[in-house]
Amino acid sequence: MKRSLDKSGFGTPMDSGFGVSRSPGKPVLVFFILVFCCLLLPVWSPAADTTEAAYADQREKMVALQIEARGIHDPQVLKAMRKVKRHQFVPESLRGRAYADHPLPIGEGQTISQPYIVALMTAVVKPEPGMKVLEIGTGSGYQAAILAELCKSVYTIEIVEVLGKRAGKLLAGLYKNVHVRIGDGYQGWPQEAPFDAILVTCAPTKVPRPLEDQLKEGGRMVIPVGESWVQELVVLTKRNGRLERQEIIPVRFVPMVDAKGRKY
Ligand code: SAH
Repeated sequence: MKRSLDKSGFGTPMDSGFGVSRSPGKPVLVFFILVFCCLLLPVWSPAADTTEAAYADQREKMVALQIEARGIHDPQVLKAMRKVKRHQFVPESLRGRAYADHPLPIGEGQTISQPYIVALMTAVVKPEPGMKVLEIGTGSGYQAAILAELCKSVYTIEIVEVLGKRAGKLLAGLYKNVHVRIGDGYQGWPQEAPFDAILVTCAPTKVPRPLEDQLKEGGRMVIPVGESWVQELVVLTKRNGRLERQEIIPVRFVPMVDAKGRKY
């Protein structure tokens, strides 16, 4: 049996103040007060403010509890993590979880990394305002945005066309120093090499040789290396043409693949 809808409340008279008073001045006054309030609405816009304020509050907490508390103290990195609106880089239906302590799906089977991992990868390459940086795996564009806040220029490559296009559009509206390309990042971006830093946000089983070659002397590359389910996050520093290797923590990234979807 269908339940009947409770319609109480519909059609009940509203005590609006109109027409109940005998004094002719009152309705006019109320009318002007209402018009004034309507004019103020766009300025107040309390709903939008609350949302942005709520996101800002969540960002502060994200930085304090997930990033600083885990030992990342570079003030510039923290500043960038506080500034970039992560919720803009996640699908609308997941925005409420944009600042949570985990990765999120961004479509096409790919993910935006956990905030802590983004901060860690950024901090280990020691970003400076003059640096030219390469990122492999644009994804949502969030990591590229963080780098754009801190470095002179960011070159980022995404193999999945829809993701690359979407991120490219979003980043173009926010930054002038980010260049997005659709293609296979295994090959790097030889026309723009060498780079002061390289961040790889998809995991190959071995460090791609072209990326090693495109790293500047003294530069750093951070890359997850290993099999599908667990990899080691590795920092490589180029000294005298050779790469010094330091392993930081076990991580899980999506695999680096070629144009046919085969894992590198
Ligand atoms: N840095 C991203 C997260 C990336 S997830 C962010 O901030 O949101 C990893 C991305 O690497 C995926 O989008 C995947 O499509 C991409 N990828 C995988 N193999 C690649 C390759 N060979 N070249 C470029 N991008 C690749």
